[in-house]
Amino acid sequence: MAELKKVGVLTSGGDAPGMNAAIRSVVRSCIFYGIEPVAIHEGYKGLIDNDLEIMNARSVANIINQGGTFLKSARCQEFRTPEGRAAAYENAKAAGLDGLVVIGGDGSFTGAMLLEKEHGLPCIGVPGTIDNDIFGTDFTIGYDTALNTVVEAIDKIRDTATSHNRLFLIEVMGRDAGFIALNAGIAAGAEEILIPEDQKPIDQLMDSLENSGRAGKTSSIVVVSEGDKSGGVFELSRAVEENFPAYEVKVTVLGHIQRGGKPSCYDRVLASRLGVASVEALRDGISGVMVGVRDQKIVQTPLEEAISKHNAIDSNLLKVADIVTV
Ligand code: ADP
Repeated sequence: MAELKKVGVLTSGGDAPGMNAAIRSVVRSCIFYGIEPVAIHEGYKGLIDNDLEIMNARSVANIINQGGTFLKSARCQEFRTPEGRAAAYENAKAAGLDGLVVIGGDGSFTGAMLLEKEHGLPCIGVPGTIDNDIFGTDFTIGYDTALNTVVEAIDKIRDTATSHNRLFLIEVMGRDAGFIALNAGIAAGAEEILIPEDQKPIDQLMDSLENSGRAGKTSSIVVVSEGDKSGGVFELSRAVEENFPAYEVKVTVLGHIQRGGKPSCYDRVLASRLGVASVEALRDGISGVMVGVRDQKIVQTPLEEAISKHNAIDSNLLKVADIVTV
């Protein structure tokens, strides 16, 4: 096995709280094992533009508690082309990189997989996205923080909902997955939770709101995942107003506040664990995998599987959501 002397690290795609903690962990794991860490600014764009910086242990001081990513993330169209990836590889080779840690989501992992297949640069994926929609890990970095942000926001909205007999439709992030909506919805006591994995007909929502009214509820919170296919929160709002003229319906789209903020304790620990695991995998001569946690243990999943498979929503949680809203 060739000696590992230099490892690059970048953050790519949508940012997530805890990405800084992951960069810090990769950098310090490298130093711990006598490897030179090289940070790449702005994801794959920085690799193509040769925007690289050698790190030391102090370069990542005081960032474990910061949201976002100090290396910045970017969407890079050029990297989607073979020519773009070849240019990125030439810079990686010239810098002497023996491996690359990519912190991001499934798009970023697709890029990493192609870079390794086409040019042989060993790559490891670290799942960083608030949506928790990556196969091969129970939790992605940023998800726990986003959940807590959403629950805090819904708690505040509930205060005004109950003061005015209002019905609030709250849209949360998750274009393809309803993990945030389902878990935050249960935690915040939502009356209804609409997610793409359990698409309910609109009549069912109306029945449920009617039952809520009969059960004596004077205000309601409905959490809607971005990926829900009922036509979006504004369309739903019109439908509810038609059916329940007595209700004052309000829509809140939580939007980007869900991505920001200080990472939670869980995300900091997860990011620290996965950062170490990524460097240790490269040292063991392993690449083309994503590191994740399953049942509290570190596991590796081929990047190909991580991007093509999906974690299923826990059907028991759906049942819990139904039971606790009677
Ligand atoms: P995420 O990693 O959060 O899913 P994106 O899908 O935007 O975010 O991907 C981040 C970056 O990864 C893209 O801007 C692009 O540079 C690279 N990427 C995404 N998909 C591909 C692909 N199919 N081939 C090559 N590179 C890709």
